[in-house]
Amino acid sequence: MKNITILGSTGSIGVSTLDIISAHPDRFRITALTAGKNLALFARQIKQFAPRIAVVASVEDVPRLKEMCSGLNVSILGGVEGLIAAATADETEIVVAAIVGAAGLVPTAAAIRAGKDIALANKEILVTAGHLFMDLVAEFGVRLFPVDSEHSAIFQSIEGHRNEDIQKIILTASGGPFLNRPAAELSQVTVADALNHPNWSMGKKITIDSATMMNKGLEVIEARWLFNTPVEKIQVNIHPQSIIHSMVEYIDGCVIAQLGTPDMKAPIAYALAYPERITTGIKPLDLTAFSGLTFFNPDHDKFPCLQLAYRAITSGESMPAVMNAANEIAVEEFLAGHLRFTQIAETIERTMDVHSAHTLCSIEEVLKADQWGRETAREICRGFGN
Ligand code: NAD
Ligand code: MG
Repeated sequence: MKNITILGSTGSIGVSTLDIISAHPDRFRITALTAGKNLALFARQIKQFAPRIAVVASVEDVPRLKEMCSGLNVSILGGVEGLIAAATADETEIVVAAIVGAAGLVPTAAAIRAGKDIALANKEILVTAGHLFMDLVAEFGVRLFPVDSEHSAIFQSIEGHRNEDIQKIILTASGGPFLNRPAAELSQVTVADALNHPNWSMGKKITIDSATMMNKGLEVIEARWLFNTPVEKIQVNIHPQSIIHSMVEYIDGCVIAQLGTPDMKAPIAYALAYPERITTGIKPLDLTAFSGLTFFNPDHDKFPCLQLAYRAITSGESMPAVMNAANEIAVEEFLAGHLRFTQIAETIERTMDVHSAHTLCSIEEVLKADQWGRETAREICRGFGN
């Protein structure tokens, strides 16, 4: 029986994780759950999975959640202290990091320091603080299992091979909802257009990241740290069918890929059950149902965010944290109807232009760079005067 904490159980990844857990009650038990704003769903999850600890992000929501869970044997906490308590709960063996954005940094770092293995969905953690996290993982001897589908594919394609034999990593990208939209129309697309992802159903922030292709930029940086591979060896291919989830090319010219129906339950199940494989209920892949699997290079003029990510990772330690913060603000402003779609990339670029990259020696310093990036991006957004 494996004891699990889920940070962000009410989100898209959190819900899929609970689906897997409820299908395998003989293998997994929930120790702690945490959530942001969706208290109604959270209360239902608490009733169904009976965690010992349940945490809401805002301390103000604690009394209401206590009321909603009265009669249940659960300790209800709030705020960052609560998130840390959930992440470090004694019985927990593996923590599913499924909070969105840099908000996941502190509880996930606490989990590693407490010796917990991590199933990592929250890619912003490695984008903002990759070197510090990988050092922590090594220092505390924990395992870090990728949940992002591309990184799970790479992890599966790398097993049993030597790092020095890797020629390159090929991350696949669906291209998002605007793959075939003329560039000139992108300044006029609506929030609903951008949220209409062709292949994946996900939280709002990552769905917008997929539309701008910043998601792939974040994933390049994530792969750089997870697989200790220089970014020059990480390449992005557009693959609109999202059947090949990523590939690894070796020095002998052989390429190993992982394929499957696009469903996050597959990488989640692999991260939780590793090294075993468990049933997921996912529709088996029928390659004869496809008229073809296609691949091409991304259009960097139309989707500048991908290049911004390469620029950030080669500029120095604080730049990816600042880029990520500016992206989080720009996406928030776009979703609120305050920014045009094309102004997301503009906000990020202008924030990066005024930042002097410097080294980051602690999570506190990462949070400072993150704060600076947020404030600067907010000011730039106000300057658009929309
Ligand atoms: P989501 O928005 O659906 O869920 C986020 C979860 O985090 C929710 O439970 C929410 O309540 C909680 N949360 C949000 N802000 C918080 C805060 N400030 N403090 C504490 N909790 C907070 O997001 P998602 O789509 O599930 O994505 C989660 C992470 O996984 C992201 O980093 C995303 O990039 C990554 N990811 C998601 C998918 C996917 O298919 N959804 C795929 C790959 C990677
Ligand atoms: Mg992905």
